[in-house]
Parts: sequence; C-alpha cells; structure tokens
Amino acid sequence: MFLPATPEEMRKLGWDRLDVILVTGDSYLDSPFVGVSVIGQLLLKAGYRVGIIAQPDADTADITRLGEPALFWGVTGGCIDSLVANRTASGKKRRGDDFTAGGINNRRPDRAVIVYANLIRRWFKATRPIVLGGIEASLRRIAHYDAWSNRVRRSILIDAKADFLVYGMGEKTVLELAARMHGGRSVSDVKGLCYIAAEKGIGKVELPSFDEVSADPSAFTKMFLDFYRNQDHRTAKPLCQRQDKRWLIHNPPMPPLTEAEMDEVHGMDFERSVHPCDRGRGKVRALETIRFSIPTHRGCYGECHFCAIAVHEGRTVSSRSEASILREAEKLASLPDFKGYILDIGGPTANMYGFECKKKLLQGACPEKRCLYPSVCASLRPDHGRQLSLLKKLRRIPGVKAAVVASGIRHDLVLADRKEGLAYLGEVVRHHVSGQMKIAPEHSEAKVLACMGKPGRKGVIAFRDLFLRLTAKAGKEQFLTYYMIAAHPGCTAGDMEALRGFASRELAIRPEQVQLFTPTPSTISTLMYHTGRDPFSGRTLFVEQTAAGRERQKKLLVAKKGLLRYDTPQLNQTAKEEESWVKTKTSKKKPRRNLPKR
Ligand code: SF4
Repeated sequence: MFLPATPEEMRKLGWDRLDVILVTGDSYLDSPFVGVSVIGQLLLKAGYRVGIIAQPDADTADITRLGEPALFWGVTGGCIDSLVANRTASGKKRRGDDFTAGGINNRRPDRAVIVYANLIRRWFKATRPIVLGGIEASLRRIAHYDAWSNRVRRSILIDAKADFLVYGMGEKTVLELAARMHGGRSVSDVKGLCYIAAEKGIGKVELPSFDEVSADPSAFTKMFLDFYRNQDHRTAKPLCQRQDKRWLIHNPPMPPLTEAEMDEVHGMDFERSVHPCDRGRGKVRALETIRFSIPTHRGCYGECHFCAIAVHEGRTVSSRSEASILREAEKLASLPDFKGYILDIGGPTANMYGFECKKKLLQGACPEKRCLYPSVCASLRPDHGRQLSLLKKLRRIPGVKAAVVASGIRHDLVLADRKEGLAYLGEVVRHHVSGQMKIAPEHSEAKVLACMGKPGRKGVIAFRDLFLRLTAKAGKEQFLTYYMIAAHPGCTAGDMEALRGFASRELAIRPEQVQLFTPTPSTISTLMYHTGRDPFSGRTLFVEQTAAGRERQKKLLVAKKGLLRYDTPQLNQTAKEEESWVKTKTSKKKPRRNLPKR
C-alpha cells in the first residue's frame, strides 16, 4: 500500500496522528529503488504510523498537511543530490527531471534538504527532531567541497539546523533511531548516525576543523582521507570535527544488510507506481525503467574515484538470495501491464552479485589496498556462478521473455574469473543484452586512469574481442557501448586527443557516451578537483576548471572531424594554458575558477 500522503488517506486508516513524516524532493514513487519509500515501508512494518510529503510547496502551508509527527521528521532531497539533479555538469539549469511527475524540473529546490528543514522549522516552532537522510545528506555529512558555490561548506546537518543525519542506506539506523526515540533512550551511539554536540567526548578520531579545511587544501586532504578510511563497519572509529563552536560527531557505520535482511527489504509489497496525488501531473520517467527492473544487490568495491557509491552504499556488496529475486520476477510477470521484459537485473555494477572477499567480510575492507585497482585483488576470487544460475532460472519463469542486464558490467571481473567468467559472458551475450552492452573504460591514458582509479586499456581490448567472438558465435548483431569522461582532474586536452586516437584506432568507434566530469561532494576525484593534487602521491595535477576548457575536452572526443580542428593551433594553445596552470598551482596562487556556474 502507499503510505498516506493526504489527510483523507490518514483518516481512512483511522490515524489521527503520524509517528514519522518523511519529506522528499522526488514525486512519491513507491518502489524498492527509492530510499524514502523503502524506509517508510520498513517503519510501517515495524508498527509506526508513517506518512510522506513529496515535493512540498515552499510558498504555502503544504508542509503542514499531515500535521506534526509524534517521533520525528525525516528529510531527503530525493534519489539524487538536488544540485546534481538540477544542474548539468556545466552548471546550467536542467530542464527535465526524471523523478518528477510530468518530467519538468520545477518542483525540486536547489539544496532541497536545507530548504525542507527550514520549511518545517518555519511552520512548526520547537518541533520534533528533524532527521536528514538520503544521498544528498550522506555525501555532505562532514565538511565538503561544494563545486556549485566553489567553497568548502559545513556539514549539511549544521546548514540545515537539523538534529540528526542518517548516512548510508539507512534502514537499520532509522529503525534503531525510531525504537530508541520511542523508548525515550539515548541515541548518541546509534551506528550510521551523525549529530551535533557541545563536547567532542573521548575515543574519537579528530578531523581537522572546518576552519582549517576551509583555509588549507592539505588539511582538507587529511580530513578526507581520515574520513574515507573510517567507513568500514568492522574497523571504523567514531569521528569528530569542530565546526564553529560545536562538534560534529560521526558514529561508525551500521553493518551492511545480511542476505536475509536484503530479502526482507525486497520482499515488501511495493506499489511500483507513483502516488495517485501525483498521477495527474504526468508520467515519471524514472518509473518507466524501475517499474520492471529488479535490484539484485547493493554496494560496490570498484571505488572509481569520481563515483559516490562507495561513500554512500559502502564497499561491501550485499546480495539478495536467488529465491527472493525469483519471487520478485514472478510478481512482475503477474502484473497486467508486464510485457515480458525485465528491463534490468543488476545493481551498481551488474556482475558483483553473489560474491565478496572473505577477508573483507571477516576483518573489514583493506584501508590501504583496492579490490580492483590497479588489478583485481587475488583475495577477491570473482565467481559469476551464482549470477549464471540466477539468469538461467529467470528465463524459465512463465511470462518472462527476457531479463536484460542493463546495469554496467566490470569487464575486469569477467576476465579475472577463470572458472565462470567466459560462461557468464556467453550467457549474457546470448540471452541478456538488448542490442548493446555497457562498459565504462572512462579513458585510455594511464595517468588519467590512475587519477580515476580505473584499470588500463589492455583489459578493455581483451574484453571487446571476447564480446565480439561470443556475439558472432551466438549469431547476434549487438554492440559494446563505452562510457568515457572528459575533464577529469589530471586530464589535459592532449589526453583527450590521445583518447580519441585510441577510440578510433583500437575500438573503431567515435564515442557518444561522454560525460563531463561532475565534482560530486565527498569523492576522491572532487578532492583532486578542489586541491589540484593527487591525494595519494601528493603530485600536482592539471585540473580543467574553465567552462570553455571543459567543453573543449568533450568536443575533442565527440566532434566529427572537420567540425573541430583539434589537431591544430588550438591544441598548442591548450598545452600552453596547461603549463601556465601548473605553474600557478605550484606557486600557490589561487587559479581563477569559473565553473560550475550557478
Ligand atoms: S583483500 Fe583484496 S579484495 Fe579483500 S578487501 Fe582487501 S583489497 Fe579488497
């Protein structure tokens, strides 16, 4: 059932007051892909009366429509950080919004978490605690560099004047918080929680203060690395950071969900639809994909430096059981508008389902070592056996014509699995690709790939050859799509030129899926973007920060020959600019930044 979103729906349930009111920056979609809906349904299952206010109108009393909760308010910006949702990588306002009914980007404010928390305080003085959650809060939980204002900002908990912040996926933390608040007990040691305190207490790792990290890039780097190394629930210590006269307390993370807990979450009865009060506004584009897709796992140990998943979902992959996934597929197949196609069966990285590093599960993720970079760690032992079995069984479900693996695949994991990798790829190529398979080499040049934490080009070519061979054997006509990034820290126009050469010579393509690097808060790449240094080696990096330079990098890769004379004086000019930028950087003079613009 939908959680009540109107007073009439509360009345129908016989509820005169709610325990928890959740406020979100998306339209209200009841789906296992939508965090606020999962949290709401779990709280309901645990016996709390929960309601949802989606995209409240800040100019009216809309936020008061469900009254005041007895326990707490839960506030999220939605499935995407509101600034990423509202602005392009070039800083321009986006016109569309896939998580808003009608698809027009006119209902989610910038910094939605702060706006909604203020809205609550405006209408309800001295109200129940405000608890922030979701990706926007999670990525901005400590002092962070915010590219949209080009400055280091305080924890969003302080800027929003809220009481608590739940980071990560949040299910167990929110349930624990609710139980303790309900019982009148202290919440100060709840895992996965941040809060503000007058004193720092004892036994915590003290991060450099907000004032220090705002003024000094090397203090910012130290803060970030201390933070990043304390994100595994088995090894993390509590953190604290002075922000003005108060202390931000960052408790260690909650353990990731077990298989049984994952099954419990995904076994709940979601409507997989948009709430009736939003239906009249038009379609929600995101629903077209997620309505008939199945998440098999969460978390990612790829740790690509530009990606926020490791910071939000964690480095440990939690998988559902095969039985739970098959039950969900049967349920989808029974829906009247199901056309026989499961549009995606996957997770952050499709082929991380079903295996994890045993050492990590027992002792925690290695603090100084990567699971996949510079090559696949010997302790990981990739095994696509469970995925193979799952895909075979999915195809046998009556009513399912195809289950597509549309999430990205890590090609290095396939190649590293000597036992099942070939069989897995063969199976996917024969039955689970809808015309094209996505992989994400992101670049070709070793120094740029090192800045991204991505493996080298040799694996891409080996995987491409294997894919083409298996595709030919299956008698199919299908393609590989390569995702690339332009203007990543450490990437020069010359590197984009080299990437173009690699793509046309070695891959025989002109890339179309090219993103401009977006400095999302709390990623390693954003740290590089802000400080102009590689945090691990201390090396100064070229960082393209001008709007024109960033666009030029993208054009160097995508423009048809003749439209952009990328191999003429323009490139020489760019090389000079890069040289002078590095000189400026090493002379400690702050470079002029004009990107992203508001
Ligand atoms: S042993 Fe290897 S796979 Fe396991 S956590 Fe450490 S780096 Fe990752």
